Amino acid sequence: MLTGMQIAVIGGDARQLEIIRKLTELDARLSLIGFEQLDHAFTGAVKEKLDEVDFSNMDALILPVPGTNLEGHVETIFSNEKVILTAEMLLKTPEHCTIYSGISNAYLNGITTEANRPLIQLFERDDVAIYNSIPTVEGTIMMAIQHTDFTIHGSNITVLGLGRVGMSVARTFHALGAKIKVGARKTEHLARITEMGLTPFHLNEVEQQVKDTDILINTIPLLIVTASVISKMPAHTLIIDLASKPGGTDFRYAEKRGIKALLAPGLPGIVAPKTAGQILANVLAQLLQDDLGKRKGKIK
Ligand code: NAP
Repeated sequence: MLTGMQIAVIGGDARQLEIIRKLTELDARLSLIGFEQLDHAFTGAVKEKLDEVDFSNMDALILPVPGTNLEGHVETIFSNEKVILTAEMLLKTPEHCTIYSGISNAYLNGITTEANRPLIQLFERDDVAIYNSIPTVEGTIMMAIQHTDFTIHGSNITVLGLGRVGMSVARTFHALGAKIKVGARKTEHLARITEMGLTPFHLNEVEQQVKDTDILINTIPLLIVTASVISKMPAHTLIIDLASKPGGTDFRYAEKRGIKALLAPGLPGIVAPKTAGQILANVLAQLLQDDLGKRKGKIK
């Protein structure tokens, strides 16, 4: 339980509603900033404006998945209020107050360092990345169906990268009956790809390997699907780039060659915001309970 914990949930989209639901169920007291247009009321949660918040008793601040932008602005889907998080606000919080965000950037790193408050990036955690790979793959399947006139079953699919997303993508498309090749650079990844019953290749050979590809799915956040690679693909190849912006594809060249290339960021929040929110809510609940437990232990 989170009884006695005071937490500010600052901005966000539908995923945040699952977090609010879970934390109120666990008896935390919540201040909701950037939610005044939300019709639903949660017992134990109070909607507040940023300038009304008493930061001095906050045990944790929860930001949306993107955190802030580079000017400190926090996205608020359920409000027109301009919410800007500053180091001054963080300095008003107790020293133990932890900031939770999906990802971070120079601004958020800067203000948390200046205020000397711990920042936890949930998307850096393996468990979150692996759970999130499930809705990511479902969104990828949706895109493959929408943008091709052939079945996934029987098609040649090349996956680049065997990380948390790449492994789930390769496994699921294989289960749908596609012929899967996976490109990786580590020998242990090549071994794992073989063990999974898929065809491995070293990333050095990507140009030769895409010659019969119907769908290429990239998960490597680095320019890897270069003009030279694209020039070797059949004209009907669909590229789905899952890597974080700006992706790993030369989109300009793909367009020039008439190859359909789609950058597909944030699929979990698009195709399954409820599940994506629950994934974050479950991990956050655990982290907050651990934090509360540690502090109670120290107080004793
Ligand atoms: P990950 O586990 O870190 O996997 C990244 C993959 O890229 C690994 O196979 C890694 O191989 C490879 N890689 C990284 N740098 C490389 C380099 N310089 N040369 C060759 N290979 C390199 O990450 P992930 O969780 O799978 O996520 C992959 C990407 O998808 C990230 O950009 C993430 O932000 C994004 N993502 C997108 C969505 C969406 O909805 N589109 C959802 C979740 C995640 P090594 O092990 O050899 O480094």
